Amino acid sequence: MEKIVSLCKRRGFIFQSSEIYGGLNGVWDYGPLGVELKNNLKQYWWQVTVRDRDDVVGLDGAILTHPAVLEASGHVDTFTDPMVDCRTCKARLRADQLSEKNGVKQCPNCGGKDLTEARPFNLMFQTQMGASADPASIAYLRPETAQSIFVQFKNVLDVSRKKLPFGIAQIGKAFRNEINPRNFTFRSREFEQMELEYFCRPEQGMELLAYWLKERIKFYEEIGISRKRLHILDVPEKERAFYSKGTFDIEYEFPFGRQELEGVAYRTDYDLQQHIKASGKTLDYFDEETKERFVPHVVEPSAGVDRTVLALICDAYDEDTAPDEKGKMETRIVMRFHPRMAPIKCAIFPLLRNKEPLVAKAREVQELLRPHMNVFYDEGGAIGRRYRRQDEIGTPFGVTIDFETLGEKDDELRDTVTLRDRDSMKQERVAIKDLPQIISSKIR
Ligand code: ATP
Repeated sequence: MEKIVSLCKRRGFIFQSSEIYGGLNGVWDYGPLGVELKNNLKQYWWQVTVRDRDDVVGLDGAILTHPAVLEASGHVDTFTDPMVDCRTCKARLRADQLSEKNGVKQCPNCGGKDLTEARPFNLMFQTQMGASADPASIAYLRPETAQSIFVQFKNVLDVSRKKLPFGIAQIGKAFRNEINPRNFTFRSREFEQMELEYFCRPEQGMELLAYWLKERIKFYEEIGISRKRLHILDVPEKERAFYSKGTFDIEYEFPFGRQELEGVAYRTDYDLQQHIKASGKTLDYFDEETKERFVPHVVEPSAGVDRTVLALICDAYDEDTAPDEKGKMETRIVMRFHPRMAPIKCAIFPLLRNKEPLVAKAREVQELLRPHMNVFYDEGGAIGRRYRRQDEIGTPFGVTIDFETLGEKDDELRDTVTLRDRDSMKQERVAIKDLPQIISSKIR
C-alpha cells in the first residue's frame, strides 16, 4: 500500500487535500492523471448503465438536501455509528472496529484498554441555509445519492414515460462524517457514488437482484479488475437492513484486506413508502395493461467511484524487469490499466528533440490522434526513459517517430512509426494513417 500511495502522489493521481496546510483528514484531491482515470470510470459506468439501455434514464440531483427527505429515509434518526474514545491515545474509534484480545476490547491504535462507553454519532454533515441560524434553516449534505432518485421518482416517471421495470441512475458526490477515515481513499468523508435504482413489480425483485449482481460483476471485469480478486458476500439476514430481502456485497481484495466495493440490495418498496408517508404525495405506478396501481419495489446497485478507482490502481500495480539504455535489466514499475481506463492512451515520442523534421512529424501525429483519445507528447530524455515514465502511469501505447518515418533509409517506410505495447514491450511498424483506427479499437 505504501508503494501505491507514494506512486499516486509522485505521478499525480491523488493528493492529500489542503496538503500545504497540514491536510484535511479523510478528504482527497485527484491530480491530473487521477481525474482522467476517474472520468474514464464514470463515463464507462454511464455508458453501460444508461446510454446502452432503453430501460434506464439519468438524474443529477442536488447535494444540499431538505431535512424532511433524510428524516423520511431514516438517516436523521438511524445513520449513526456507535463510537468509542480511547482515553490513552485519544483516538476516536468505531465500536465495531475495536480489536479484541482474550475477550477484552482494545484500541487498535495503542492497544489501550481504557475505552469510553459506545455512544451514537450521526454521520451526516449539517449546514445552514441563508442568514438566520434557526433550526428551520438546517440543510444536510447528502449522505448518498439515492434519496433524490426516490424523491424525484414521480417527475422522472412522468417525463420519461417508462414502463416497469425501469431504472434511474445517478453519479455524484456524497458526504459522511466518518469517525475513522482510513486506508487512503477507501473510507473518505467526501466521496462519489454511482447508483442505480431499478424499479420493478414486487414479484420480480429477487430475480432482478440476481440479474444486477451478474451485470455488476461483468462491469468490474470489463474495466480490467481481475475476477480472482473480486468476492461476493451474500449478506446474512441479521446483518441486512430490516426492509431488505436480499443484499450482496461485491468485495475486492485490497492490500489492506477484503473490503466492500459495492452493495447490490433488494430494498423492497421501503424508500418510496417512507416518502409517501412523510410527504403525503402519491409515488406509485399505474399499470396500463392490468389496470393496477401499486408502489414499485426497487433493486439498488450502489458503487463507490473512489473505492473503484483505488481498486483499479491496486489491481494495475505491477513490477517486472525491462532492459535499460545499455541493455542491463532493471526493475520496471508498470500500471497495467485496461486501455479503456488508462488516463493517457498513447504517448508520442520524436526520437530526438533537436531534429526539427522529427519534432514536426511527431506534432502532426499528436494532432491526428487528439480528437480520438487523450495523448501525451514527450521529447525529453533517452527513449527508454520516456517509455519507463509512461509504463509507470499505465499508458498502453507509445508511438516513436524516427528517421525511417521521414523516409531517410527506405522510402517504403516513409510515414510509418513504431507502435509499442506497454505489456509485451513489443514494437510493430505501422502506417501513421492507420494509427487512429488501430488504437481506437483497443480503447473503446
Ligand atoms: P461501509 O460499510 O464500508 O461504511 P456502507 O455499507 O455504509 O459502507 P453504502 O451505504 O452501501 O456503504 O454505500 C454504497 C457505496 O458507497 C459503498 O459500497 C462504497 O463503495 C461507497 N462508500 C460508502 N461510504 C464511503 C466512504 N466513506 N468513502 C468512500 N466510499 C464510500
